[in-house]
Amino acid sequence: MSESFDYDLFVIGAGSGGVRAARMAASKGKKVAVAEERYLGGTCVNVGCVPKKLFVYASQFPEAFHASAGFGWTIPQAPTLDWPTLRDNKTAEIERLNGIYNSLIDNSGADLFDGRATIAGPHLVSVNGETYRARTILVATGGWPYIPEFPGSEHAVSSNEMFFLDQLPKTAVVVGGGYIAVEFAGILNGLGVETHLIYRGPHLLKSFDREMSDKIKQGMVDKGVHIHLNTEINTITKTDNSLTVALNNQADMAAGLVLYATGRVANTAGLGLETTNVVVRNNGAIAVNEHFATAEPSIYALGDVIDRVQLTPVAIQEAMVLVDHLFGEGLAQIDYSDIPTAVFCQPELGTVGLSEEQARAEYPDIAVYVSDFKPMLQTLGGGTDRITMKLIVDTASDRVIGCHMVGEHAAEIIQGLGIALKAGATKAHFDATVGIHPSAAEEFVTLRERAR
Ligand code: NDP
Repeated sequence: MSESFDYDLFVIGAGSGGVRAARMAASKGKKVAVAEERYLGGTCVNVGCVPKKLFVYASQFPEAFHASAGFGWTIPQAPTLDWPTLRDNKTAEIERLNGIYNSLIDNSGADLFDGRATIAGPHLVSVNGETYRARTILVATGGWPYIPEFPGSEHAVSSNEMFFLDQLPKTAVVVGGGYIAVEFAGILNGLGVETHLIYRGPHLLKSFDREMSDKIKQGMVDKGVHIHLNTEINTITKTDNSLTVALNNQADMAAGLVLYATGRVANTAGLGLETTNVVVRNNGAIAVNEHFATAEPSIYALGDVIDRVQLTPVAIQEAMVLVDHLFGEGLAQIDYSDIPTAVFCQPELGTVGLSEEQARAEYPDIAVYVSDFKPMLQTLGGGTDRITMKLIVDTASDRVIGCHMVGEHAAEIIQGLGIALKAGATKAHFDATVGIHPSAAEEFVTLRERAR
């Protein structure tokens, strides 16, 4: 390192992408600093994936209690939920993970600054009253929930607050049709809250395979979520302990809580980017090239702050590619196609590759295979759940180009099929694979009847 720099790499933001980049760079013998103003591990660990999944588990118990009767179990009293226990046990687990992140950074040899860092020039980062010279700066500041402004919008909460509520409401309104809205609608409903999901469009999860998102909508309705499509909120008014939500197309609704899950915006405000040539797009996200370089040669950005794909594992991969580019052989590349993803709504969605709509637009001829069945658990357990699986095949090459599942364990099952699609598996490969019996997953290798 040149004498004139304090650090080879100064990372702003200790979320999934920032920490991975810092650790990888430090492991290559580079002098690295990380600054974090809020919480180690970023959104995913603190107010995202991890606590959300713990809440999903919590919300699934009532169905398991119900199903147990058919298997001979008697539960002496109706089970009840103690919300503070769930919330505080979750918080204790997150604090344990914060500690692990602290050790990971510490053990890597990087310096950790507990404070808000700002950029003071192409090579300058200020934090806790000191300014450091960095050869390269990585902006990995993530995103923040977006709530539109309208009369009473200050009474709405975002996903951030959902993890720390003093008490659960009796009735909740969830606004949005994306990942966070459907996931929290399922959590609240499962925890016993009367839940209304309000979405302005005609279809939930609109960027996913339509057949699958329709199944999810039906599954959510069957489980008790009240879904209001093509509906918008005009105002929210607060009266004593209740909120009144005025809708554009039906009677007012009373709720104890209104959650807005209407997207997330890049965390770039007040970062000092105006002291550099970094270009910020209209939506606040930082513009970068294929190597995550901004228009300022010494400054890079990745993860939610560049708003390509707002997923933790993507930010982690971006970090590995960047560090290889900066300090390694420069051969690593990121491929944004066939990214497997799951939505932990209830029923759960797992998906990789193209939706049927995308496949029809991109390929001249496709074959679609669909299976819809009752999970084995339901035979004795009762309940309304179904499982739907779908394969989309390019008939010219026989390659499987889309793989979708709605139902229990969809995320776990689709992860493996993501490898198959990445490897270019054909329908013949699926057909030649022996199933695991009895499992739901075996259905993916026994689909023979073409649905369309
Ligand atoms: P999404 O972009 O997924 O969905 C936002 C929703 O809000 C859309 O339905 C959108 O409607 C609606 N919306 C936007 N603006 C308004 C408005 N002014 N009034 C009413 N509705 C509005 O964002 P989320 O907040 O759900 O999640 C952010 C990202 O976080 C996701 O895209 C995902 O990448 C990531 N995430 C991933 C998870 C996972 O991997 N399981 C879990 C949670 C989040 P419209 O479609 O009409 O524009």
